Amino acid sequence: MAFHGAGRQTVCGDLFPGSELGHKYFCVNSSCSAGGGAAVPQPYSNPASEVPSPAEMEPDRPIGYGAFGVVWSVTDPRDGRKVALKKMPNVFQNLVSCKRVFRELRMLCFFKHDNVLSALDILQPPQIDCFEEIYVITELMQSDLHKVIVSPQPLTTDHIKVFLYQILRGLKYLHSAGILHRDIKPGNLLVNSNCLLKICDFGLARVEEPDPSRHMTQEVVTQYYRAPEVLMGCRHYGSAIDVWSVGCIFAELLGRRILFQAQSPIQQLDLITDLLGTPPLSALASACEGARAHILRGPHKPPSLSVLYMLSDGATHEAVHLLCRMLVFDPAKRISGSDALSHPYLDEGRLRYHTCMCQCCYSVPSGRVYTRDFEPVAERPFSHSYENSLLSVWQGKELIHRFITEHQQGKRVPLCINPQSAAFKTFIRSTAWHSSKVSRKEER
Ligand SMILES: [Zn+2]
Repeated sequence: MAFHGAGRQTVCGDLFPGSELGHKYFCVNSSCSAGGGAAVPQPYSNPASEVPSPAEMEPDRPIGYGAFGVVWSVTDPRDGRKVALKKMPNVFQNLVSCKRVFRELRMLCFFKHDNVLSALDILQPPQIDCFEEIYVITELMQSDLHKVIVSPQPLTTDHIKVFLYQILRGLKYLHSAGILHRDIKPGNLLVNSNCLLKICDFGLARVEEPDPSRHMTQEVVTQYYRAPEVLMGCRHYGSAIDVWSVGCIFAELLGRRILFQAQSPIQQLDLITDLLGTPPLSALASACEGARAHILRGPHKPPSLSVLYMLSDGATHEAVHLLCRMLVFDPAKRISGSDALSHPYLDEGRLRYHTCMCQCCYSVPSGRVYTRDFEPVAERPFSHSYENSLLSVWQGKELIHRFITEHQQGKRVPLCINPQSAAFKTFIRSTAWHSSKVSRKEER
């Protein structure tokens, strides 16, 4: 498509005046010995920046709890840059958690896409005998879509378009690498003050299963965003489950309330059929017996999709058309993330993104030079063949230790946690508290 975007008014830059997450002190230190580094955390100081605001003087603190792990906001002592520090706990409890964490770690190091969060660094592991936890550093984002939706900040059609465009752009990349995210929800879509969006939290992500006879877990996706095939106990599913979640989020952005907010999985399914109508028998083929019986036993419901126009003034014909292509009961008929990007509703989001937000296009005095490929795919599929050769926790520990060490080699000064820092105790407490709460069915 041809762009004539130079000089176009932009909404980027004023969505979150006064971010709630300021610059922080640091609780990791560039020295690897316990007593060797600076005992007191140094305040954020960047020669290029102005005097830190009171918010910037706050100590390090936790900013989020993902499916597996705790995230802290810290400052990288090597360059004064604010980053996010994620602790992956309980790595070596058993072989399944070992495989899961290694998978997430490898994914974070594999990703190279502006709308997908990736690892900037991994903290230096101790000697293998003391190696219990993994710390990953990623880019720090100021907020997430859940916080934006429930905030009083204005959310215009322009915002919604540029957010939805980036969600689908990131999702297309993930799916092209053969990765299912399996927990797409507003809280896992990080945003910063100029509306840049990144998909995060790959604690539940896995590689697509090409063999339909292989069972996959039902213990995925936060209930409000869970696709009907998963709710109905389908044993095999694909990337369409992520697109369903994006459809729910699109409606939530428009209406600023959760689209299907049910108390239980059964009620969740009921709310979905209230909107979409009773599905045809063909869409129930893979459902478990109980779910099929529940749907067939109930009254026949006609679709009531016209209520989507009442979500907000932004629910135009174009918006509802795209929404209805994502919220399709039968996953085989649901639009793909890649095809959704071709929908005309997203043209303006694409234009805005590549005019003022992206890293792939650039400006010259005569105008903007656009990239050839607005929505790039992954260079290669994500490989998980190593998982089959992982047979014991100790072997996993050695592999992960080697992976981290090799990943760092020849790069920057390695980082490790500074146990002398003021924030250290709180850090350990917060992560230990969360670790004890994490007990999830492990699965494939
Ligand atoms: Zn671009």
